[in-house]
Amino acid sequence: MRLNKYLALAGVGSRRTCDEIIASGRVRVNAKIVTKMGMEVVVGKDFVTADNTLVKPVTYEYYMLNKPLNTLTAVADRNRKTVMESVSTENGRLFPVGRLDYQTTGLLILTNNGAIAQKLMNPKYEVEKEYLATVNSSLSTREIRAFESGLDLVEFVTKPAKISLYSKEGEIVYSVTIHEGKNRQVRRMFAAVGHTVLALKRIRYGKLTLGDLKPGESRSLTQTEIDYLLSL
Ligand code: URA
Repeated sequence: MRLNKYLALAGVGSRRTCDEIIASGRVRVNAKIVTKMGMEVVVGKDFVTADNTLVKPVTYEYYMLNKPLNTLTAVADRNRKTVMESVSTENGRLFPVGRLDYQTTGLLILTNNGAIAQKLMNPKYEVEKEYLATVNSSLSTREIRAFESGLDLVEFVTKPAKISLYSKEGEIVYSVTIHEGKNRQVRRMFAAVGHTVLALKRIRYGKLTLGDLKPGESRSLTQTEIDYLLSL
């Protein structure tokens, strides 16, 4: 790993600040001052210090959170509670992979691997996301067809979605699977056919499923789940 990235990941500062720290001769690798920011260091083997303080290597961490209701998918906010308050790490900063609305609950991945978080948010990866949407009234066959063929949401037409009735005991709940992740997409899809989403929960992201994680609970991803994310 490049030295500037190693320092930035360890929380020494932004990539730019780390470049400056390196350039000013404050960083040593195996006791020798290094001023080349692109120098390759071997994580876990090379001994890196900044201002004579050991900089421990950061290992990547991956979490699945069941995002609770009324939390913001953001790194920080002045007034509102963010998803970051539900997961803690000592290894640098965590980034959410994508966004869930303030009032959406369910599966959210958080990682300190900023590069993979960025990569997975790129629409070209088209990871399937499955939601359970509790709605105010049942959809007609024609409306279901509209979900399956693509809905006009004014600035774009949705790709064909999968939709099926999940439960109608007391509440009307549909399972909806989409590939894109446009802002408020599922809510807007139902609104486009005249229905209101009363509650929305994401239960699957690609092959990763929420399982029985309770709102506000998080867990580390298994190695198989991590390998899957890295293989996308
Ligand atoms: N679609 C929405 O409408 N909201 C979300 O949070 C996720 C998908």
